[in-house]
Amino acid sequence: MSDIWERSFNMILVVLITAVLWMIFGAVNALIFCSGALLWMVFHHVRHLVALERWLQVSDHTPASIPAGSGAWDDVFAHLARYVRQHSQSQEQLSLALERMQKITSAMPDGIVILDETDRIEWCNPVAEQHLGINLSLDAGQQITYLVRQIPFVEYLAARKYSNPLILKQTRQQGIIVSLQLVPYGYKQKLLISRDITRFEKIETMRRDFIANVSHELRTPLTVVGGFLETLSADEPVSVDFNKRALALMTQQTTRMQRLVEDLLVLSRLENEQNKVNDKPVDVASLLQSALQDAESLSAGRHHIRLNVATRDQLSGSEEELRSAFGNLISNAIRYTPDGGEISINWEKKDGQGLFSVQDSGIGIESQHIPRLTERFYRVDSSRSRETGGTGLGLAIVKHVLNRHDARLEIISKVGKGSCFNIWFSAKRLITSDSDE
Ligand code: ADP
Repeated sequence: MSDIWERSFNMILVVLITAVLWMIFGAVNALIFCSGALLWMVFHHVRHLVALERWLQVSDHTPASIPAGSGAWDDVFAHLARYVRQHSQSQEQLSLALERMQKITSAMPDGIVILDETDRIEWCNPVAEQHLGINLSLDAGQQITYLVRQIPFVEYLAARKYSNPLILKQTRQQGIIVSLQLVPYGYKQKLLISRDITRFEKIETMRRDFIANVSHELRTPLTVVGGFLETLSADEPVSVDFNKRALALMTQQTTRMQRLVEDLLVLSRLENEQNKVNDKPVDVASLLQSALQDAESLSAGRHHIRLNVATRDQLSGSEEELRSAFGNLISNAIRYTPDGGEISINWEKKDGQGLFSVQDSGIGIESQHIPRLTERFYRVDSSRSRETGGTGLGLAIVKHVLNRHDARLEIISKVGKGSCFNIWFSAKRLITSDSDE
């Protein structure tokens, strides 16, 4: 109420003065004064209205740009300035929150796409751009199915059952496998979350292949042993010769299974990252001396085997693991070298590194096989490997031992001429002998 009186004060004053003038100077003078005062008041309001309209037309609505006013307009403009200040403050807070939100989602390892109620892209983070081949600046507003066109995804989106993720093997980004999960939120909006599961899928494939390979390796010896046991336990009598042959073959197949299981156990021990290498000085010269004896007994005089130890340097590592790696390379050289062939086992120091090598004059390996030799169960000639007692795991064991000893394997081979397997040990693994200095 007081506001109304305050705002009407000027009008009341004009009416009162007009009345007084009427009484003193007569009606004409009083009316002239009243018209002048009203005209001034109208002009005052129009001037402020024009200023307000001009301010509304400009795009920069900051409190500082609000025009100055007088009288009642001073209060109006002050209120307006307060309102604009509050509005710009909350807008600033909102854009800061949005910026923070975008920063968080950009830092996330998962891709995020915001879809509207008609499945059009509203926003996505850079990871989603990468996973799904989206370019936000060009594709915002596009239907997601226009960019992710795979039929399983279109069906997944249409089915509206989002409890399980969808695995997409072929996206616009070649070579990656993504898992997609839709999460409904708000008013018919959806979040599409993408995750790169390429590595996980590779491990899964390796696991499946490994189980299939082990089963395959065990099946043949088990079939042989099972077959003989069935015949021997039948009522029909068998000859002494058959008995002997059956026992010999069963022993051979059992040994093969034992070797396979032993190699699998060694591999699993090596692959277990919790089993750290127990570093101790290893006297390579005496280790190779005993490896030479094993080699000679395996070769049984069929090969010429030489051992050259050019340095007394020791290695820091696990004796058991190094024995297994060296032993695997030496036994391969014997198994893949025809009778009468040459095999040389060497330990030397070269360019500050330790070099262990096994050279043979055997069958050699075609170059396309070399990069895959250290894969589990990879064989160039499966029948030769099995005939000579191979499990297909020897070089996989070597690779793991070398990884654990900061060493690398180098394979040089020529078909029909022979192979050379070099192991390079880094200088930090060498324990220099005094006599070498
Ligand atoms: P395996 O038990 O079959 O010998 P490895 O992992 O030790 O398994 O070797 C993998 C394959 O590499 C072998 O099957 C063989 O084909 C090839 N290989 C390994 N060493 C030699 C060698 N010294 N000469 C020729 N081929 C070799």
